[in-house]
Amino acid sequence: MTREKEPAKGKNRTDNPEVFCSFCGRSAQEVNSMVAGPRAFICDRCIKTSFEILRKELSAIQQPDRVADEPFQPRLVSPKAIMDSLDNYVVGQEIAKKSLSVAVYNHYKRIESQEWMHDDDEVVIEKSNILLMGPTGTGKTLLAQTLANLLEVPFSIVDATSLTEAGYVGDDVETILARLLHASDFNLDRAERGIIYVDEIDKIARKSANVSITRDVSGEGVQQALLKILEGAVVGVPPKGGRKHPEQQLININTKNILFICGGAFEGLDRIIAKRISKSSMGFGSKVKNKQTGYDPEILRFVTQDDLHEYGLIPEFIGRLPVISSLDLLDDKALRNILVEPRNAITKQYKKLFEMDGVELEFTEAALDSIVAIAIERGTGARALRSVLENVMIDIMFELPTMTGVKKCIITADTIENKAAPEYISGTRKRKKTA
Ligand code: ADP
Repeated sequence: MTREKEPAKGKNRTDNPEVFCSFCGRSAQEVNSMVAGPRAFICDRCIKTSFEILRKELSAIQQPDRVADEPFQPRLVSPKAIMDSLDNYVVGQEIAKKSLSVAVYNHYKRIESQEWMHDDDEVVIEKSNILLMGPTGTGKTLLAQTLANLLEVPFSIVDATSLTEAGYVGDDVETILARLLHASDFNLDRAERGIIYVDEIDKIARKSANVSITRDVSGEGVQQALLKILEGAVVGVPPKGGRKHPEQQLININTKNILFICGGAFEGLDRIIAKRISKSSMGFGSKVKNKQTGYDPEILRFVTQDDLHEYGLIPEFIGRLPVISSLDLLDDKALRNILVEPRNAITKQYKKLFEMDGVELEFTEAALDSIVAIAIERGTGARALRSVLENVMIDIMFELPTMTGVKKCIITADTIENKAAPEYISGTRKRKKTA
């Protein structure tokens, strides 16, 4: 059925309400704009869609060795299912997990809604970029990474302190997108729906004492530079990254559907909040206040945009991170769980490595307690668990493959504290084939 009427001669944009788009069939009354050709019409929506198709094709030409652009649709998983999956990998952090699950669900629902939304729809779902606050080693990166794995979207991590304003030496904001493009095997469609984790976001706070004095770049400049990609913009990205290859063709990436998760320790923010609510931070809130950093997770739940502004983030930047969540400190019980419970818990990983050599590995309860006690001393959260254990295991893993007649290795508290070698049980090894 031909629905279009003959356009008036010599006229490109038609105001005739009676004509129909030759591509989607919408009438001129249903769209914002209708362009007339000699024998056809095209509405503004179809022009936009065509532009997107051409933009992606053009990028493919500019980057000949890239993988073909397969259409990519992220999996829409319910918040409950997201939370359940996070539970398999991340211990505790229930509040953060819940708010992330909802934010991510809404984010991908927002992307889906773009398929059927009209330009003149009054309700526009805004992007739900996320700010995670919590000391080092509490699982901020792990949460972001696990989410990306679960949703099967490309993921990349960038350190905010490595970023500079355009024109300064260092990584610029475009490099972040180049990394995501790499993570998606140059599939632009996938990259444009990926997740970027920006670490140490608190270090680019304006006038922050944390910003290195050797750098002449103000944190505010970097915040400004991040603004445009956080909100959504088409950015020309050098596929090889950096400015060292000025000859390389740029690939245009639209950041409108990329989810940004920013994380930082925000040391001292609790004092700003405490001051505002006119209560001394001493004795206020949580009993699990960190002795070394003074971090009080409970008080951070009261954070407002004004507090973040006072901390040194500019209002426009804060405005682009509408979902804010603070992480709990990991107490000894949580740290102990992290050692043994998550699907790829570190002790499980060592057990698997030993199993491949035909040796059963066991950690005594006291050994686990000892690892936790040393980790707590170090004050770097769960991060310390791995290093404590690695220090102990390195010698054992060096010797064991060439030790004959050992079928079991028991790590005791004394082994962890460097007071004794592990207990070795003699027997014949049953070497397992690697999967
Ligand atoms: P952050 O980004 O908060 O500094 P990471 O997410 O990088 O911390 O965590 C550091 C290490 O500790 C990682 O190996 C991670 O697997 C582990 N870890 C941290 N928090 C948790 C947690 N809540 N549950 C399980 N493992 C955790």
